[in-house]
Amino acid sequence: MECIFCKIINKELPADIVFEDDDVIAFNDINPIAPVHVLVIPKRHISSVVDIKSEDSDLMGKLIFTAKKIADNSGVSQKGYKLLFRVGKDGGQEVQHIHLHLIGGKK
Ligand code: AMP
Ligand code: ZN
Repeated sequence: MECIFCKIINKELPADIVFEDDDVIAFNDINPIAPVHVLVIPKRHISSVVDIKSEDSDLMGKLIFTAKKIADNSGVSQKGYKLLFRVGKDGGQEVQHIHLHLIGGKK
């Protein structure tokens, strides 16, 4: 498997995991742009938001809810944060496995 995020899911590559269940995993971004910078990803490989289907709606909702819980636990919810999906070339997506950026702790 080439995908680096699948390797993290399979524990073939180390990561600073902050949350994990059967469907999703969340870990600290290796190159954080803010004090809190977590990536929340589905365990099932989906390359991009471009590729999501109707049946992926619950899973995508779960990514957002997981990010919300991590934000709460990180203490950034009161001041606010960004949730970001980069999509495709113009969106600046570099890793071809859907990931939701949770970015907080600074304006
Ligand atoms: P994007 O540009 O939206 O595709 O974001 C990819 C993100 O993945 C970047 O913020 C990288 O810093 C991050 N990243 C790449 N490799 C790793 C890794 N092995 N562990 C944690 N974060 C990573
Ligand atoms: Zn993958």
